[in-house]
Amino acid sequence: MNKQEKIQMLKDVININSTNGNEEEVADYLLKRLSEYGILSQKVQYAEKRASLVSQIGVDTGKTLGFSGHMDVVDAGDVSMWKYPPFEAMEDDGKLYGRGATDMKSGLTAMVIAMIELTKEGKALNGAIKLLATVGEEVGELGAAQLTKEGFADDLDGLIIGEPSGHIIVYAHKGSMNYTVTSYGKNAHSSMPELGINAINHLVLFCNEVDKYVATIQAKNEILGDFTHNVTVINGGNQVNSIPEKAELQGNIRTIPEVSNEQVEKVFGEIIQKLNQQKDVKLELVWDYNKQPVFSDKDSTLVKTAQAVAKEQLGEKMPLLGIAGTTDAAEFTKAKKEFPVIVFGPGNNTPHQVNEYVDIDNYLEMIDVYKEIAVKFLG
Ligand SMILES: [Zn+2]
Repeated sequence: MNKQEKIQMLKDVININSTNGNEEEVADYLLKRLSEYGILSQKVQYAEKRASLVSQIGVDTGKTLGFSGHMDVVDAGDVSMWKYPPFEAMEDDGKLYGRGATDMKSGLTAMVIAMIELTKEGKALNGAIKLLATVGEEVGELGAAQLTKEGFADDLDGLIIGEPSGHIIVYAHKGSMNYTVTSYGKNAHSSMPELGINAINHLVLFCNEVDKYVATIQAKNEILGDFTHNVTVINGGNQVNSIPEKAELQGNIRTIPEVSNEQVEKVFGEIIQKLNQQKDVKLELVWDYNKQPVFSDKDSTLVKTAQAVAKEQLGEKMPLLGIAGTTDAAEFTKAKKEFPVIVFGPGNNTPHQVNEYVDIDNYLEMIDVYKEIAVKFLG
């Protein structure tokens, strides 16, 4: 493919509005483009208009390297704030603007083109490259969870997530957990609080207990840093002179391998149980989202290969880092076999923002980087 074709393909993908859904249109587009080169794909339906895509090239003997990217994007926000319409990708001064340009349609498209070019060039691979293009990453890694449950990740020997890392290679990220606590009380006039049960007060009891627990955590991960907890949403009460009968809060936790998700679940459950033994306290805890941290071997062949290829092609020694944000790898690593993961893709720090863009050169160079990593990794 020439440069213009590669840019056009990315524009086509960006111009499909897949805001928290409609990924099937992206899947259909990629399936069609891959099939033009004889590459077979399979759609895995998640819901109406939502399907993940699995495509494969190479041979069944030898290793299997996963290329993965999500097809959904986040809401474009206030469209009037955009320099160019978010779903009409526009080139300007070496940058391509559009929702998903960085997160992560450039990474996904670069992976697809890498597979197309390797096929077109008739490159004999000593293994397979498997594309796992997912739905619903932004709202809970839904497609990755489904694909993993259905066994599509069981044959992986390595996985590259093409999320925007720019010129760094990520081999670890924190886990993420969301929860909701609902507190049930009883309405009363605030001049006669003894007749009511204050639901907000009981949420405060919960917050205090959680803070105490978090303060006891000494563990720190040398790459990922601290375990963190934050209450991020709070709702309760309906009138200033009434005792609130219901209140609700939501929190987010970023876990590290030293403090497992299971341990956090257990402790939070115990806190709720303990508080519910107090008079009139009625708290209910629901886990809304639970993603494990990913901590890959930094000396794995995949990491070493990616670093060597980046050095050779881009002339840079890419730093190896951990990040706080979660990726589809949190689901894929639940597959039967253990395998190394890296997050390495074109992009910058504009994801989820107005005027999101990708540097076109960064996108183009990653196509060659992916090709070379695959050839070297498969041996
Ligand atoms: Zn993303």
